[in-house]
Order: sequence, then structure tokens, then C-alpha cells
Amino acid sequence: MTTTKTNPGLVLVRYGELAIKGKNRFEFENALRRNIHKAANEIAPCTVTKTRGRMVVRPERRMERVARRLQEVFGIASVSPAYAAERKIESIAAIAAEELARALEAFPNPDPIRFRVSTRRADKRFPMTSQEMNVAVAESLGPAIEERLVIDLKNPELQLGIELREEAAYIFATRLPGPGGLPVGTLGRGICLLSGGIDSPVAAWMMMKRGCRVIYVSFHSAPFIGDSSKRKIEQLVRSLSRFQPKSRLYSVPFTDIQMAIRDHAPESYRTVLYRRQMQKIAARIARREKAGCLITGESLGQVASQTMENLTCIGAATSTPVMQPLIGFDKQETIDLAQKIGTFELSIIPEPDCCTVFMPSRPIIRGKLEECEAAEEGYGLPELIDNALANADRIDID
Ligand code: ATP
Ligand code: MG
Repeated sequence: MTTTKTNPGLVLVRYGELAIKGKNRFEFENALRRNIHKAANEIAPCTVTKTRGRMVVRPERRMERVARRLQEVFGIASVSPAYAAERKIESIAAIAAEELARALEAFPNPDPIRFRVSTRRADKRFPMTSQEMNVAVAESLGPAIEERLVIDLKNPELQLGIELREEAAYIFATRLPGPGGLPVGTLGRGICLLSGGIDSPVAAWMMMKRGCRVIYVSFHSAPFIGDSSKRKIEQLVRSLSRFQPKSRLYSVPFTDIQMAIRDHAPESYRTVLYRRQMQKIAARIARREKAGCLITGESLGQVASQTMENLTCIGAATSTPVMQPLIGFDKQETIDLAQKIGTFELSIIPEPDCCTVFMPSRPIIRGKLEECEAAEEGYGLPELIDNALANADRIDID
């Protein structure tokens, strides 16, 4: 194509407009622009400019790949690889013909293709109406239309989009869905308790989707559980970092706490007590990181520690709010989502989790808060928690 050399192409980004009314708009757009810039630059150097209600990303090359990468950036409703034209009908028609020729390559068989031109006039001062533009461009495509295309306004298979804006006209033939949600970083921070299982990575993703920046905390039981478990957690964090620029992981030694609980507390309460100490430690990290909540992968009734009563005992370990985005999910729903976001294959690598160390043979089903509190007294748990925090590793993953 001749224009690919002179006109390198760009990505037109649409974002949800409902969420950005009022005074949040500025913050929302700035965060979105930063996140877009970070993600797109992984593929090619680029600039990002805002134009009323859209972002225009201009990569030096590989616009198609940049567009696909942006499908993972929260806050984006959809993206289109596009070409810019001068705001003159001749220029628009020329670029439209080229874009149409490229788009037709995706339809190898000779059947007629239902087609339409759809113009959006963001700049109402443009001398032609949207409808006049649709007709003029379709007519300029005359020969192509006669050979392969039938105009179908209601149910087109191929839609040539034109956006008329103050600075240029943008022309595109594809529209790729974004992930929706809100830009990461606009709705506060949360500490995700990340195990190597299927659930907690999905919980982290769901909070990121709603604009929360996630910081991870993982507990490990060396030497009962080896370094490969730690590496698996790091890989999970790396995989999730596609959805937020920069991730931080705290890796906290948990063995001493587990051994103390094993030696001093009723056996049936062990799992609930482990989980309570995890919440206390995570809440301390939340304070340090100025995070407003804890995030876990719990789902009501999924395992013995996730009954209403036990979740209440665990939640009561700290005053920091606990968000459980999977609480109403069936396991299969979580698995489907884990597959979609790309964490499932990592999660199912068989590595033991620290909760499996010294497991009770008959875990309590309906724990009582007074009994939890009584079972934590008299053997120095607060000091063990201080120690665990003092010996935690902090890893920044970009
Ligand atoms: P997951 O699939 O996330 O491991 P699960 O179904 O195995 O969850 P539990 O073992 O009861 O359930 O854990 C409940 C939640 O507690 C997890 O989703 C996670 O948020 C947190 N958690 C459990 N173990 C750890 C750990 N070793 N490090 C950090 N968080 C943990
Ligand atoms: Mg688990």
C-alpha cells in the first residue's frame, strides 16, 4: 500500500463516557492516557494524544499489534487501527479506498459482502452532514462496490468507519472490543492475598478491572515448600502485570506462625487461624502501602474455610475492609475467567500452597470468633507477626 509508507497508521481508542462525567473526568483521562502509553510502548515507541472523547495512539510501527495490546487496558471500550486523512472529501475518499482494499483481504471467497459507510461527525462545523459523507464516500468507491459489495445499512458485515474531528478525519474498517472497566489507579489501591491457586489471580484481575491498583502479598512455608512455589507466584504476578503498569509483590515467611499455631491451638481451627494471621499481616502492609482494602479469592461455600461463619472469623481479624470479588461465583465461572485472562495454565501447575502444611484432618465448619481469639493467646503470635513482616521480601515487577 502506498499510504502505509507516507501515512503510518494509528490506533483510535474509544472509552466509556458514562463513568467520566463530572470532576473525575480529568483524573480518569490522565490515568487512561498513562496506562495506554505504557502498554503501547511495549510494542513500539508511540505518542498518545487526547481529542474530545477519544485517544489517538501513533506508534512508529506495528499498529495492529498495538491495537491488540490495548484490548487489555482497562477503561477502553473499543479500539480501531485507523488512518488519518486531511478533512477534504478527496483525501478521505482516497484513504477510504485503500482501507477498503485492505479490509477485503479478510474475505477470501467471492460472495457479495454486505457493506456500509458510517460517518460520525464529532466536529459539527464540517461542511457535509454525516449522511452526505456516507453517500459521497460510497459513490467514490463505485467500482469496488459494483464488483464485491452490496450496500446493507441494517446488517453490514463490513463497515467502513469515518470520524470527522477538528484535527483530521480518521478512517477504519475494524473495531476491536476493549476490556471495559475503569483505568487502573483511579479507584484506590488494594492488597491482594495471592496464593498459587486459580481463584486469587482472578480476584486481583476483577479489582483491577474496576480501577483498583493491586499490590500482592504471598505467604510461603519454606522449607516445607520449595522455591518453585515462589517462582510460580512471581510468574502469576508477571502475567497479571499486563493489566496494570508496574506490580509489587511482598513475599512473607509464614512457617514460624504455622508451627506455633500447630503446637498451641486446637487442630480443627488451624486453617481459619492461618488465614486470620494472613489478614493481619496483609492489613499492616496495606497501611504501609496506603491501600484501602484487602482482596481475596474466597467464594462462599467453596471449601470448609469459606463458610459464612469461617469467613466472618477471618474477616474479623482486622478492621481493614476485605473485598471478595468471587464470592458469588461457581468454580467453573472462575475457571472460565482464569482461562480468558491467561492465568489458568500457570495456576494449575502443581505446587503446594502453604495452607496445605499441617492441614487439620477435620477442619472446623462453623468457627466461632471467641474461640479464634482465645486460640491466639499466650504464645507470642504478635511477635511472630512482627518478625514475618520484618523478614518479608519486596519484589517490584515491571
Ligand atoms: P485460591 O484458588 O486463590 O488459592 P482457594 O480456593 O484455594 O483459593 P483458600 O486456600 O481457602 O482457597 O484461600 C482463600 C484465599 O486466601 C485465597 O484466595 C487467597 O486470597 C488467600 N490465600 C490462601 N493462601 C494464601 C497464600 N499462601 N498466600 C497469600 N494468600 C493466600
Ligand atoms: Mg489455594
